[in-house]
Amino acid sequence: MKVRIGLEIHVQLTCLRSKLFCSTPSNYYDKPPNTCVCPVCLGLPGVLPVPNKKAIEAALMVALALNCEIAPKIVFVRKHYFYPDLPKNYQISQYDGPGMIPYARNGYLTIVVDGVKKIVRIRRINIEEDPGRLTYPTGSMITSPYSMVDYNRSGVALLEIVTEPDMESPKEARAFVEKLMAILEYLGVTDTSIEGAFRVDANVSIEGGERVEIKNIGSMKDVEKALNYEILRQRKVLESGGKVLREVRHWDPHKKVTVPVRGKEFEEDYRYFPDPDLPPIIVTKEWLEEIRRKMPELPDARIERFTKQYGLDEYRANILVLSKWLADLFEECAKMYSDYKKLADWLITDFLRWVKELNIDPKKRSWNPRSIVSLLQAMDRGLISVRMAKELMPKVVAEGIDVEKFIEEQKISKITDEKLLESIALEVFRENPKAVKDALKNPKAINFLVGGVMKKTRGRADPELTVKIVKRLLEAVEKGELSI
Ligand code: MN
Repeated sequence: MKVRIGLEIHVQLTCLRSKLFCSTPSNYYDKPPNTCVCPVCLGLPGVLPVPNKKAIEAALMVALALNCEIAPKIVFVRKHYFYPDLPKNYQISQYDGPGMIPYARNGYLTIVVDGVKKIVRIRRINIEEDPGRLTYPTGSMITSPYSMVDYNRSGVALLEIVTEPDMESPKEARAFVEKLMAILEYLGVTDTSIEGAFRVDANVSIEGGERVEIKNIGSMKDVEKALNYEILRQRKVLESGGKVLREVRHWDPHKKVTVPVRGKEFEEDYRYFPDPDLPPIIVTKEWLEEIRRKMPELPDARIERFTKQYGLDEYRANILVLSKWLADLFEECAKMYSDYKKLADWLITDFLRWVKELNIDPKKRSWNPRSIVSLLQAMDRGLISVRMAKELMPKVVAEGIDVEKFIEEQKISKITDEKLLESIALEVFRENPKAVKDALKNPKAINFLVGGVMKKTRGRADPELTVKIVKRLLEAVEKGELSI
């Protein structure tokens, strides 16, 4: 049964200092309620909105990065609905209708899932203002005796990005969101780590069923989880002979389920019309060119450059580039270390694993490329074994140690003393006579003996030398020169 997924993503332009139509600061995140407001974003009578040029430029940049057709005029419309968080009773937004057009349409971006490239089409992008926010004294709509409204968010510049239903699995949807977030980060328009700056709604249908909309998915991981849950739910309904209803459901991130939203079962009539307070903004070719020139290198271009300049395959280049901080760190290290593939491998496996394990927010850290390079170089020079390098990695991640200095101070460099290793190997032989017999018959079984030496030296034995010594001792046993 074929699955079709489309996404609708709201992104705040957090790069801006002020809101979309007034000069009120847009950085409301840790401010007390209703302190980031003015008559315009409170929707008081008699005020006039003035578009924020920086917001329009950021929006145009996103449209260019997503390969969209850009309308020659930006037309703002009024989208009417009644809700306490919307003081004007209309939201200034954009619409596709007579005399109205979204500023950007027919774009696309490329995702890679399991090594397969895929194009996801973007239907349109709107520029609009964020509404305010309802808050509840107990934190929950159900248990609170009343609700409160905070207009700090009201009027913050927002992009609404809508895709075609081109994704066929939750994994693809997640890859899309990851790629989109990376592009926004490279453009520097949105800090996606700010809570609420990035909100996803998804619609999903299974062949033979109706389309279901899932609202309120707050994080990238939840996109995949919510869709997995919803597809399983729809499959069960269809398999038991039932019908999937066309409905709106809410993602509950705590219970990890989608639940139907009551009371909103019909398409609302928003009575869209062009906002008479806002004359259309003309987008000239010159303006677009100027914006294009200011755009930084984007993920796709960087991935291509990584394959050419560093000889990396697309798989590795993709993982590095999609995390901008990691790609930046890679390039810093690459100035000092030229085995690029080895560098990439250590970064995307052990290094990344420890960043996660130690719960580090990588974007808020200043990384020391020297430390990573010192680890790789110590390994190359034979000062430490691979296993020791793995053991030192958490110190590289957490403290940025200089590995060579560290092993000198701690006296933990690799053991290359042949006599010492031989005596340890003999111990291992004596303790494991059966393993010695096995190894005489089956050459593969020597790994057990080598492993025994490694265990006794806590990974410090030089692996190649140890293999050589174990083989030599086995030969001696075979010839009867050594008895154990
Ligand atoms: Mn919207």
